[in-house]
Formats: sequence, structure tokens, C-alpha cells
Amino acid sequence: MRLDAAIASATARLGDASESARLDAEILLSKSIDMPRTYLFAHPEDELDPAAMQRFETLLARRLDGEPIAYITGKREFWSHELQVSPATLVPRPETEVLVDLALRAIPSDENWQILDLGTGSGAIAIAIASERPLCDITATDISADALAIAAGNARDTSLANVEFIEGRWTEPVQDRLFHLIVSNPPYVSDDDEALDALRFEPRSALASGADGLDDIRVLAADCAVILKPGGCLMLEHGESQQAAVAGLLADSGWANIACHNDLAGRPRVTVARRNVTQAGYQSSETP
Ligand code: GLN
Repeated sequence: MRLDAAIASATARLGDASESARLDAEILLSKSIDMPRTYLFAHPEDELDPAAMQRFETLLARRLDGEPIAYITGKREFWSHELQVSPATLVPRPETEVLVDLALRAIPSDENWQILDLGTGSGAIAIAIASERPLCDITATDISADALAIAAGNARDTSLANVEFIEGRWTEPVQDRLFHLIVSNPPYVSDDDEALDALRFEPRSALASGADGLDDIRVLAADCAVILKPGGCLMLEHGESQQAAVAGLLADSGWANIACHNDLAGRPRVTVARRNVTQAGYQSSETP
């Protein structure tokens, strides 16, 4: 079969399984023949040999089964970095670039801020911030050693020396430190959300968080203030229906200046809160 015919037939087969059927077909075909995607357009008349055809069928079957293209290729672009991903990490989403953008607006480019990324996964957020703010030190934690191995590899591949990775649950491994800013894209999907079925290839522990999806955000709201410098901010990604609930539980934990920001599609997805001087954990020796 010719390359152009292989793309056309795979696109038709992927139609129901993918919103980007043609692009997926091209990516999988280029992987099957171990050539860049541009080769497909330059050589549409090339014939697929039987071994490549077999490889293509195997990859197509995985995609038809619902596996994300990022796991099949092992990579995903985020903030213009090509990152390795594995089933131990969530696939970085474009919406999360809104969180990075808000963080960069808050971080001065000429200061050495200490920044914490909680639940870093593939390291996408930490690496994006570290690359844009070379004078800052980024610490990234995750409870999954397998995820951290991927994240550390990504930091190496992007030649970043200002990001460190520490294994542990949320703030536990950094209890004795103080940060200017904390960012996190925690799990926030409800345990019984039907969307989890479509996300079944991704780690459930990175997605689901209790009956209302807010169990981990509750932990962060309660535990982050004490490791923030006075006036420091917490920035949290969450689901579009969670704006009021997240604001409410941050207020209950004493946070100030709570504000929600929209993603590019206009959905409320990132809430920012400032550490309050009256908040639990505030030490009177600190000057706000
Ligand atoms: N945005 C993801 C989704 O719903 C969830 C990511 C998360 O739970 N942190 O597909």
C-alpha cells in the first residue's frame, strides 16, 4: 500500500476513536517507517513494506482502543518543550499552560525566587517555569518515583539545572522550606465521573480525588500556607465546575485575595490565593 493510501484508510478507521484522526494516522505512520511526518507529504507514492505495515497496524490498534497518542509515541509537547511521558504520568494538557502563564506573570525575571510545583508528573509545569525564569530555583515533588524519573529525564533533556525533584506526598518532603510561590495541577476529577473511563490509560491517582474531586485540593489548602513566605501565592488548576467550591475551601483555610482565572476557552480553571498574615502556621517573627 502507498503511504497516502495508508493515511486515508487509517484516517477513516480512526474517525470515531479520535478527534484528530488524520493527524493521528500521520503520526503513527511516520513512527512505523521511522521517518519524520514531513516525509509522508514529500513521498506519498512510497510503498509500505510488510514489516512497516505490520508495525502500523499494531500502533493503529492501540489508538483504536483509546490509548492516547502521547503514550504510543512516548512524547508530548508542552510550552514548546518536547517532553517524554509514560503511563506513570498524566499527558500534559494545553489548558495547563494557563497556570504556567499566570505563574510567569507573578515571578519577576530578575529575582531568585524559590518556587514549588506539587505533583509534578512529567515535570511539565516545573520545566516550563524553570526555562523561562533561569534565576529562580524550582522544586518539584511527586509521590510517584516512576513519574519523577520521567520528570528528571525531561529536565536533563532540556538542559535545565535550576529544577530539583523530590519524592513525597504533597508538601511532606519540603516542610522545612519557604517558597515565594506554589503551583499545582493536582487530581481533581470526582471518583464516579464517567470521564475517567475515557482517561483510563492515564494514572487514576493523578486524576481522581474523592467523591467531589476536591480531596487533594483540601489537603493543599490546609498545608501550603505554612511553607509560603508572607505574601506568597498558591496557584491551583481545577475543573471548570469547581470554582466556587475551591474558593470556599481556600477561604475556610484563611487564604486572602482569592481569584479565579479562565482558560483559553473561557472556562474558570485556575484559582490563585495569597497567604494571609492571620492564617494558621503564620509565625509572628515573620515580617509580611
Ligand atoms: N484536565 C484533566 C482532564 O479532565 C484532569 C487533570 C487533573 O485531574 N489534574 O482531562
